[in-house]
Amino acid sequence: MATNRFELDPERLATTDIEGNRVYLYPEDVVGTWKNRRTYFYWCLIVLYLVLPWVYIKGKPALLINIFTREFTFMGSTLHGVEPILFFLILISGLFFIAFMTSLFGRVWCGWACPQTVFIQTIFAKIETFFEGKARARKILDESPWSAHKIMRKSAKWIVFTIISLHISHTFIGYFIGPRELLSMSLHNPFQNLGIFSAVMIFTGIILLDFGWFREQFCIIACPYGRMQSVMMDQNSLVVAYDVKRGEPRRSPNLPKENEGDCINCYACVKVCPTGIDIRRGTQLECIACTQCIDACDDIMIKVKKPKGLIRYASENALQGGKHKVVTPRSILYLSIFMIFVTSFFYFLNKSTELSFVFMRGSDAPFQMSTEANGQKIVTNHFTVKVSHQGEIHHELFFQVKEPELKNKIQIITPMKPLIMNTAEVKTLMFFKFDPSILIKGTRMIHMDAIAHDHILSTQEVILVGPNP
Ligand code: SF4
Ligand code: SF4
Repeated sequence: MATNRFELDPERLATTDIEGNRVYLYPEDVVGTWKNRRTYFYWCLIVLYLVLPWVYIKGKPALLINIFTREFTFMGSTLHGVEPILFFLILISGLFFIAFMTSLFGRVWCGWACPQTVFIQTIFAKIETFFEGKARARKILDESPWSAHKIMRKSAKWIVFTIISLHISHTFIGYFIGPRELLSMSLHNPFQNLGIFSAVMIFTGIILLDFGWFREQFCIIACPYGRMQSVMMDQNSLVVAYDVKRGEPRRSPNLPKENEGDCINCYACVKVCPTGIDIRRGTQLECIACTQCIDACDDIMIKVKKPKGLIRYASENALQGGKHKVVTPRSILYLSIFMIFVTSFFYFLNKSTELSFVFMRGSDAPFQMSTEANGQKIVTNHFTVKVSHQGEIHHELFFQVKEPELKNKIQIITPMKPLIMNTAEVKTLMFFKFDPSILIKGTRMIHMDAIAHDHILSTQEVILVGPNP
């Protein structure tokens, strides 16, 4: 049975009451080394998340993942017609990298890099404090009856939340269609771009609801990563942990002072926890490794003149007095899978940026015979050539036969010379005219070079056919 409101009932979540209704949390502010580290790191990430797509390099956004046109732009270079496998490989590599980091450092993604944590802690919580005060003042305001004062504060907070959510949402959608294009659409009638307008509005609503109200509930009950983390961790993963051996038995009115451990049972660690848990009960799914409890407890330890680190980053093994192993079979497995996917990504990326061309034989007869004015017989083969290039696309392409002995014996006729390549894929007709004497038993394999800027970009085989002697 609970003795005070911070003594949590082990039978239920800290964020639900006995009837299963949500209990709102009012985590207190904390100061300390870890808070400072996280704040610097969060602001770097915010700059990265919010500014990157608005930065233009060589006239292009620094990062653009246009899934509709299958274009990927990074730091001024664009891949065109990107194969879906590249998107899949980058996504799955990211997931296994997070799994690898989790096996080493526990739920570090949640506390240090997840956009939800970063935006709530750095922006939304600050705005809330500005309009409604610190934790205790917010609780009092929420429990007070509605009044003009309360309506004004709440309205001001939600208006600013909405403006911030609109900006985050535009930036996020900007990653996929380009911020300038999105800005220009925003200045027109929404019905002209109803799909994009709806996407921005829906995403704004989700951000507003999640960052402004749902918050820790998402981490506790909805986030799939939170559910899977126990699979990714083991006894050697570094987690935010309470040192039971040092802290217990915790201070209690019935316990003689000389038998006490270092924990003075002040609940400072519980009061600052954004998911409302008591870390002294061991590693829990709700812990997002935000380190707030480390700073809170260190502050108490300084005040009671005991060493810091009663709550700290440590592995289960180390806390039990064993040796902490940095490299484990689990982390090696995740790192290996990550490396396989990353290698595959670069393999396919390299392949996709090569110029490729495919010869498709015309649908008319495989060859045509004609006779020149001088009586010489000529064979004509007709092809459609499909040229694809997913890297930078502006090439003036020339085609020529590779075999030196055949160069003057085969005439190549194309509608355009050079072939201007300014999209990811172009097609052209190509006719080969040649003397049938170059054929061997009615066929001849030749090699065609595609040349741009005096360099051979690619070479392909072509089989010429003609009359069988
Ligand atoms: S237990 Fe500590 S690290 Fe975990 S969520 Fe709560 S405050 Fe953050
Ligand atoms: S902050 Fe430290 S001393 Fe206070 S209850 Fe938590 S673990 Fe114990």
